[in-house]
Order: sequence, then C-alpha cells, then structure tokens
Amino acid sequence: MTRRTPAPEYGFETRMVHAGTQPEPVTGARQTPIFQNTSYVFHNADDAASLFNLQSFGFIYSRLSNPTVAVLEERLASLEGGRGTTCCASGHSAQLLAFFPLLDPGDRFVASNRLYGGSVTQFSKTFRKFDWHCDFADFDDPAAIRAAITPRTKAIFCESLANPGGVVTDIEAVSAIAREAGLPLIVDNTMATPYLCRPIEWGADIVVHSTTKFLSGNGTSMGGAVVDSGLFNWGASDKFPGLSAPEPAYKDLSFYESFGDMAFTVHSHAVGLRDLGPTMAPMNAFQTILGIESLALRMDRHCENAMKVAEFLASHERVAWVSYPGLSDSRYHALAQKYLGGRFGSVFTFGVKGGYEAGLRTVEACDLFSHLANIGDARSLILHPASTTHRQLTDEQREAAGAGDDVIRLSIGVETADDLIRDLDRALEAAAA
Ligand SMILES: *Cc1c(COP(=O)(O)O)cnc(C)c1O
Repeated sequence: MTRRTPAPEYGFETRMVHAGTQPEPVTGARQTPIFQNTSYVFHNADDAASLFNLQSFGFIYSRLSNPTVAVLEERLASLEGGRGTTCCASGHSAQLLAFFPLLDPGDRFVASNRLYGGSVTQFSKTFRKFDWHCDFADFDDPAAIRAAITPRTKAIFCESLANPGGVVTDIEAVSAIAREAGLPLIVDNTMATPYLCRPIEWGADIVVHSTTKFLSGNGTSMGGAVVDSGLFNWGASDKFPGLSAPEPAYKDLSFYESFGDMAFTVHSHAVGLRDLGPTMAPMNAFQTILGIESLALRMDRHCENAMKVAEFLASHERVAWVSYPGLSDSRYHALAQKYLGGRFGSVFTFGVKGGYEAGLRTVEACDLFSHLANIGDARSLILHPASTTHRQLTDEQREAAGAGDDVIRLSIGVETADDLIRDLDRALEAAAA
C-alpha cells in the first residue's frame, strides 16, 4: 500500500525489477514469494484492535491486503509516479474501485466516447444500477468536455492511448479542464503502460490499469490496479464526502484528515476491497510481477513490430486505411510524439476493403495471429470488434469508438516481424479471393 523502495531517482528499468521488493527477511528468497494464504496472526489483542481501527497498518485478511499483492502495488506506484496503489481482480473492477470513493447515488462523471468497448458497457449500463451516470463526450473537443460537466459531475475519465483505434488523448488539456472544475482526472493507461506514458506527469490524479494486458504480458493472469497520485485535495470542497466526511465504521475518522495523500488508497483497501471484494489473487500478482520485470524490453519490441506491420498495411491494396499513431499521416501523430515518447504502442486498427464480410474472412484466414479478445500478449492477436468486443454497442457508439463494420484490431506481439507481415498478406489475399 505504501512506497518503500527504491528511491525515485532510480531509472524506470531498475524500478521495474526492484521497486517494492527486497530479499524475503526470514528465508532470504530473492524472488517475491507467493503468499498463498488468507489470514495473519495478531501479535496480541491490542495489536488486533489497532489494525481494525486503522491506527496501524499490517495484514489482517487477504481480501483487504496480501504481502505478494502489496509488492505489485508498490511497484506500480513507483512506475507510475503515484503515491499508492490498490490492486484488484480485473481492469473492470479497477474502474469500479476508482469511482467508488467518488460517486454517491445520482452522481455523474464525464468520459471519452473512445474507450474499450467493455468500459462503455460498464459505464452506460451496469453503473446505472448504482444510480451512477456517465456523460460521454468527444475528447478531441475541449468545449464538448466542458459542456458535459454538471453540478453533480464528480470525475473525468479517459484512456491515454485509446482501445481499439490508435487514438491519443491530450491529457494535459483534459487535466486543465478537470482542474478548472475541481474534479479528479482518471486515466486508463492500460494500452500505453507506464513505460510509454505516465499520465500523472501530465496532470492525471488517478491512473487505472487492466494488468491483464501488457503488464502481465503473457495472457496468463487477470488483474487490475488503481494508482493514486496523492495530489488531489479531497477536502477542498464538499463534493467527496466518502473521503472527507467522518466514517462511522471507523469511529468517525475522516480518511482525508487522517491519511492525507494516502486517503484514496487507504479507502480503497479499507472500504472498497472490504465491501466490494474484487481482490487480486496472490498467484496473479506474482505472474504480473514477473511480467513487469521485462516490460520495457517487451514494449520496445511490441512497438517496433507494430510500426513495421502498420507500414506494410498502409501500402497494401486490400487495405482502405490504417489508424496507427506512429504513421506520420495519423491525426494523433503529434500527440503520440508528445505523450508516448516516440513509441506508438502495439494495438491498432485498420479497415479492409469489402466491409463486414471481408473483415471477418481476413480474421479467419490468419494462421499465426490468434483470433481472440485480448491485447498485450507476447503472441500477435487479431479481432473483428464489430462482431465481438463492441457487439453490444449501438451502431453510433461503435462508430464513435472506432469499431465500425470494416474495422480489424491487431495486437502485435514480439514474434519475428516478417512472419507477421507474411501471415497478414496471405490472409488479405485469401479474403479477397
Ligand atoms: C481490457 C481492458 C479493460 C478491462 O480490463 P479487464 O482486465 O479485462 O477487466 C479496461 N480498459 C482497457 C483499455 C482494456 O484494454
């Protein structure tokens, strides 16, 4: 839950391997052990009471916190430049946990209309059952974001690099709007990862992740994370009583008064995980820790391969368009240079001539690319969003999200780039035949 090691002056790659961990003190084990257990013995009755009152921190029960998960939490806080992290069972539960301290029934938030399809569904359908309401806006248009803010708006949400279409958000501009309105900016940094983009450096207050993707990196483990910058002043208005008002369950303690820049993270463990329960399994935390140790190396190869594949597709006669921010004609190229540090990610879309049918046939004709609904795997993946991930959206929502009929989404892996190009070339010809 708190940042321990190493000092922030270490470079990204050093923190990727070392942050949050040290040799296990009892056995000397160098790799982080998997603490596959539910509960922890109290030293005595006073110790137990103090832990339950949040007067001291320690492990009680793994729904709230676990030593293996805590290492991953510290590592992600370090990589994102945040104050504290709450890991959880999936990216979707990270979004639930991120909004939970902020929204009361009847409250609203403004989100970009270019989001992962599952997030659009979660925000527009399921959150409504809590009487939480999402107003979608075009985040390329600052006036549209401002116009969507109401007196009941409690947060602004976007993706740094948006799934699926190679869209890059102008985080600094959006954070200026959030600041003006006294609202926290939440950024989903799943597709960029902290290696390409650290949204907190550009003004984000909270960063969420699906660790399922590039952070674990091998398609083995579901997981999510909420990283808090510790910079938002929850006491500056009466908008956030969950964090600033007295909490009866903890002897009327106010999280913000008691924990300051750790208020959001302590609340997420002590109330969010306690009562909602989407805890990350220790084994998944372990797999994700292993994945992060090679994050920079993998991301360099992912991005290099994606650039080669995007350039190949852009010159292919069966391809109508390619939406990859690495291409100089992308409308997001300049934003990508600024926010992604000259790398452009490995998930992007392209359009096949021939629409829905041609799209489906191309996906089916690939050998090396796996047809499945995931991104950020070492393997290359291909998907037709209109018939799968974005299927539950309306036609309008699909178009807005960059997932129209002819769209194919690729997640480029770390294989030999020439093999990927040959596989796609063959599939495009087969689909045309
Ligand atoms: C996959 C994904 C999610 C949801 O994460 P899960 O781990 O599948 O719950 C959220 N946002 C983005 C950008 C994603 O790619």
